[in-house]
Amino acid sequence: MNKEEQLSKLKEEMLKDDSLPLKKGANNLVFGEGDADARIMFIGEGPGYWEDQKARPFVGNAGALLNFALHSIKVPRERVFITNVIHHRPPNNRDPFPEELEAYGKYLDKMIEIINPSVIATLGRFSMGKFLPGVMISKIHGKVYDSSWRGRDIVIIPMYHPAAALRNLQIKQQFMEDFKIILEVDKKTPNEEKMEQMELV
Ligand code: URA
Repeated sequence: MNKEEQLSKLKEEMLKDDSLPLKKGANNLVFGEGDADARIMFIGEGPGYWEDQKARPFVGNAGALLNFALHSIKVPRERVFITNVIHHRPPNNRDPFPEELEAYGKYLDKMIEIINPSVIATLGRFSMGKFLPGVMISKIHGKVYDSSWRGRDIVIIPMYHPAAALRNLQIKQQFMEDFKIILEVDKKTPNEEKMEQMELV
């Protein structure tokens, strides 16, 4: 099975899983979307109103800022993979509970294993906390962390959540600035595509 097929199978499993704690109150599963072969993965918090309506991640105001930031570094949205730590909308957009993070986390882990990205940009504190527990986003946003998550070398870049950036101009400026780091890190990361290019020269 190729990566796309593996992701489709995982999505089917999630759609059938009635034990997922926020399923009953949500309209749709927001699995995530993008390139199954992406080198860069973005992980946000959870679906809001529009994401729940459209079954797609980051399609509301926060998504518009994410699209703008991606455009600013000339990375097409279709070339990355975007998902969340929670895949059903929590009531009134409240913060996710630890047991919810755990229940959806099992699927998120599988998603990461299938996509096998070299860079994960976390958007907001819940996603950051999965990889870098006990840190403060204001202190570490935009820094680069080499992690060996489940035995895989993945660079983690903690970033502010775009919704926070929409509420505060200073945070918005930092959010836009932090995006440039993604590009620098990705340039340095060896990957098959670049190897192939080198072989052709
Ligand atoms: N906020 C998130 O964290 N994720 C979305 O998909 C949309 C808004």
